[in-house]
Amino acid sequence: MNFLYTALSFIFPPVCGICNKYGNSYICNTCMEKLKNEKIYLPQIDFYGKNGDIKHCYIFVYKGMIREKILQYKFFDKPYLANMFFEFFVKNEKVCGFLKNYDIISPIPMTKKKIAQRGYNQSELIARKIAQKLKYLKLEKDILIKCNETKTQSTLNKKQRLENVKNAYKIQNEQKITGKEVLIFDDIYTTGATCMECAKILKIAGAKSVGILTIAKDFKEIN
Ligand SMILES: [Zn+2]
Repeated sequence: MNFLYTALSFIFPPVCGICNKYGNSYICNTCMEKLKNEKIYLPQIDFYGKNGDIKHCYIFVYKGMIREKILQYKFFDKPYLANMFFEFFVKNEKVCGFLKNYDIISPIPMTKKKIAQRGYNQSELIARKIAQKLKYLKLEKDILIKCNETKTQSTLNKKQRLENVKNAYKIQNEQKITGKEVLIFDDIYTTGATCMECAKILKIAGAKSVGILTIAKDFKEIN
């Protein structure tokens, strides 16, 4: 398998997800420097919840070039951009230190209908790559289930977002999370309504602790 991978990467070398130049990485050094200059690259860990026991790690502020790329990734049929987002996570020491605290990575689910429309669950593609690379993190995509189609969160205000996700998710295969440290993976964290709802039901179902990992955090005020 490794040989095949090496052979394939020789024939199809990685392409930078931003400037599309061939190289040895899915994000080239020039583009990485540009992102740092935009002051949006800030691997960061925030603490939420009553006792600050829900940790949220993210790489970017949701704006500028990275916002464009996330939108392209989600809405313009560019699943290969998962490679670039994956590299941001595993190449950063702070992020890797954070990931070591968890046993399971669980992407925010979509309904089957939504996956059929888009062709992929963007959070699952990245979570799978992270789990493949970091052997101690196991991908579990059948714990969190989305049972009801919801309105797009970005069209709603803060209160509506909370209402919208209530009872939209459920847990199955509870035995897989009993006593485990579970990491939820989503693309963007805005008001946190989705991630917090999932964290809540994971804890009720027996997870020892729940953390959140996202590509970006949106700091825009949502009232
Ligand atoms: Zn580049």
